Amino acid sequence: MTKSITLPKKRVLIDGEWIDSPSGSTFSVYSPSTLEPIAIVPKCTREDTERAIAAAKVAAKKVAAMPVGKRAQLLKKAGQIAESRKEELARTIVQEGGKTIREAREEFWFSWIHYGDAAAEITRHHGEVVPSSAEQGGGSAGQVEGGTAKRILVTREPMGVVAVISPWNWPSDIPNIGLSFGLAAGNSVILKPASYTPLSGILLAEIYEEAGFPKGAVSVVTGSGSEVGDTIVTSPDVNAIIFTGSTEVGEGITRKAGLKKLLLELGGNGPIVVMDDAHIDHAVEASAVGAYYIAGQCCTAAERLLVHESIHDEFVKKLVDRTKRVKMGDLMLEDTDMGPLNNEPSARTVDAHVNDARERGAKVLFGGHRNKLFHEPTVIDEVTPDMLVFREETFGPVAPITTFSSLDEAIELANSTPYGLTAAAFTSSLRRAFLLAEGIKAGSVNINETTNYWEQQAPFGGVKKSGMGRELSKWIMDDLTDIKTITIDIEKVRDR
Ligand code: NAD
Repeated sequence: MTKSITLPKKRVLIDGEWIDSPSGSTFSVYSPSTLEPIAIVPKCTREDTERAIAAAKVAAKKVAAMPVGKRAQLLKKAGQIAESRKEELARTIVQEGGKTIREAREEFWFSWIHYGDAAAEITRHHGEVVPSSAEQGGGSAGQVEGGTAKRILVTREPMGVVAVISPWNWPSDIPNIGLSFGLAAGNSVILKPASYTPLSGILLAEIYEEAGFPKGAVSVVTGSGSEVGDTIVTSPDVNAIIFTGSTEVGEGITRKAGLKKLLLELGGNGPIVVMDDAHIDHAVEASAVGAYYIAGQCCTAAERLLVHESIHDEFVKKLVDRTKRVKMGDLMLEDTDMGPLNNEPSARTVDAHVNDARERGAKVLFGGHRNKLFHEPTVIDEVTPDMLVFREETFGPVAPITTFSSLDEAIELANSTPYGLTAAAFTSSLRRAFLLAEGIKAGSVNINETTNYWEQQAPFGGVKKSGMGRELSKWIMDDLTDIKTITIDIEKVRDR
């Protein structure tokens, strides 16, 4: 006799109401670790999404009318509610995302910081006064010697409806960037979470609703990219989209979105350059963390290790030793280092890249296999720029090594793929540090730190095919508001 398990049935938040799938369709969410279903989620349709957009359009006016202090207060309250539910949020990330509990707790904290940062940012996000250069004169009342009657104010206004379309690899952190800063900027926000990891997004919507944002100000609409995502992208009532995901889907969105404001955070293929004067142990550690953190499924992962030929042997030996110590296993144990890949299509890409490297003559020095979705941490040597593992985003726990012989060659190799999100370089020379930081085309370059390092108060985003626009802090506030220029003539008034 088989044991039947009743899966939790989740709801979506549309127009301030938690509802079952309006169309009656659902889909299952699976644990990457056990491959078992863990929840059932509404599969929303085009009509459901349009309803959420219409409600968000009405709510946008209410959010915009809220004093910034009130918005900041509600964001802080949302942060308090989130903190009280932190373990539930972290466990959800483990269950649907396949992160270890340690990584999931870290994601919770990254995600949690946004409530406070957005609350602080809105109270200091201000406009400017621009000097007028117009000659004085014109009206008889307007003659002011040596001055101008005009005053020019540049203000920032809410945009209206902001949609957040998010990926599965940061199911809590990435949606919450768009939610917290979108609301702080005075917009309403519709979240379309990734279909592999919708549960964290549903929890976030619960938190914002409980905090007291107006009805319809936050919606969560689960379903496919081709239906829910496409409805958002083509809707005339959505004013801005924060899309985080693959370069391929992001490029498709630019072709369909029309004149909406787009903030695109796309794929990466980050290099770590290790010069011959580098502190090798630090470079090895940074390479391992860069390649294996969340099983390499990070847009900022170290996807290519470019190592000076004179230190190659020592670097490789140390990296293989370090890789052997990566512990895979039970995600809920504190000392497990690495979990599974999130889903089968992603795992197949990793297989294809490793196999292609083997076939083209690279040497797999450690790892290279997987059991279900658990892929071994893998070191591949003698990788050349024609290999998939070098050219494309692998998004798995793979450390591909390529040698170089000069700084110019290192920069040329680093820049030889279409991506430009984050990069890193290890050197003890200040001169080389600057030449590398200036020469590598990327949104961020870290010197003597891994590719996965970023701080929340600095801008985050990519160049080339890694995206456009910048997230976090004042930079995302700029992207989520419209600039308005107000010119006032203070002299053409009726004297009383
Ligand atoms: P994906 O592009 O497959 O999906 C991202 C989201 O887009 C999902 O919610 C999906 O349902 C939706 N979508 C799919 N097709 C759509 C369409 N036609 N119209 C509208 N929406 C659509 O990406 P993924 O596999 O979920 O995530 C992994 C990718 O995300 C990697 O390439 C990774 O580098 C990238 N990423 C980038 C950053 C960054 O900050 N640059 C951060 C995290 C992840």
